[in-house]
Amino acid sequence: MEHRKSSLVLVAGGAGFLGSHLCDVLLARGDRVICLDSFATGRRRNLRHLDREPRFEVVEHDIVRPLPAALRRQKFDRIYNLACAASPPHYQADPEHTLLTSVLGTRHLLLTAEAAGARLLQASTSEVYGDPEVHPQPESYWGHVNPTGPRACYDEGKRAAETLCYDYARAGRVAVRVARIFNTYGPRMRADDGRVVSNVVCQALSGDDITVYGDGSQTRSFCYASDLVDGLVRLMEHDTTTLAFAPVNLGNPAELTVANLVARVLAMTGSRSAVVHRPLPVDDPRRRRPDITRASDVLGWSPKVPLEQGLKATVHWFADEAEDGPRGRAM
Ligand code: NAD
Ligand code: UDP
Repeated sequence: MEHRKSSLVLVAGGAGFLGSHLCDVLLARGDRVICLDSFATGRRRNLRHLDREPRFEVVEHDIVRPLPAALRRQKFDRIYNLACAASPPHYQADPEHTLLTSVLGTRHLLLTAEAAGARLLQASTSEVYGDPEVHPQPESYWGHVNPTGPRACYDEGKRAAETLCYDYARAGRVAVRVARIFNTYGPRMRADDGRVVSNVVCQALSGDDITVYGDGSQTRSFCYASDLVDGLVRLMEHDTTTLAFAPVNLGNPAELTVANLVARVLAMTGSRSAVVHRPLPVDDPRRRRPDITRASDVLGWSPKVPLEQGLKATVHWFADEAEDGPRGRAM
């Protein structure tokens, strides 16, 4: 096996759904990991299995405030910024804080990266494309975001964070990587997360009504968490200058309607839940599908886990949670 120097890595948002899986993967690579999290939407139980891991540490902190001095002095090699609520009901609960998390929070992490000479990966989002007029969405598309609507605190915050990252990169202050993440699902999503996969799976398992917003004809493309985290690490570790100023879409191009997703979950679980329709949220994107040519050409990355397999694993995980109480079992 190739010998690699162990890196010191900061994972902001490491107690969340994706962040906790990322911590697992980095530790498995041999890195030392500090997880920085406010626990706004993240959970200690996502990390409980790491309680005795000597190469892992958790610091509770809100990145809207400057980082603790001890962290600002650390010689990080890599900083991942995943800190930001990702589910619409959660990020809309305190929109000002969401916007500041992306703007001030990213700045605080960039300053720490600059001091340490670390590379920073920003977890951006397909939401920078808004309700897209170009389909599928390549990275060259500038997007169609409503800057004054209820999703703007998230979308515009993430757009501004990208701007800040590339301003630091242009000034030669920090080497950055920007991942535009499309809808991702899997174990460790919260049952009360509010996103469609967790809602529909939990509703199907409990026999509750399944809530479809609008007529269910809107589309999304769902990526399994392990594929996504693999893409994040590849992007972070990619060493050529090709990606110094180029964001990279990470997502699964297999696109389906919300109605189709519901039908698959119902068939898979054998649930007798009824489907009820609720109003479509304001500015809900009509369709979304990543063009992953760049990730595929430059990183050699493409998703491996088909929806059927990923959904099955997610259903099992939520079923276990309901039966045995919550636990942090990995993917
Ligand atoms: P999540 O809500 O499970 O995780 C976010 C984590 O960030 C949580 O642990 C939360 O406590 C922490 N956090 C939030 N605000 C913070 C703050 N001010 N200071 C410190 N910690 C804070 O969400 P996730 O699905 O794991 O998403 C992780 C990242 O990926 C987010 O930045 C999100 O925008 C991005 N993303 C996710 C998806 C997806 O489908 N999961 C899609 C696009 C982008
Ligand atoms: N959605 C739904 N029922 C739910 C939750 C969400 O029909 O219980 C819809 C939502 O309106 C959107 C799609 O599913 O069209 C994906 O929503 P999610 O919140 O998961 O992600 P995002 O809107 O951020 O892509």
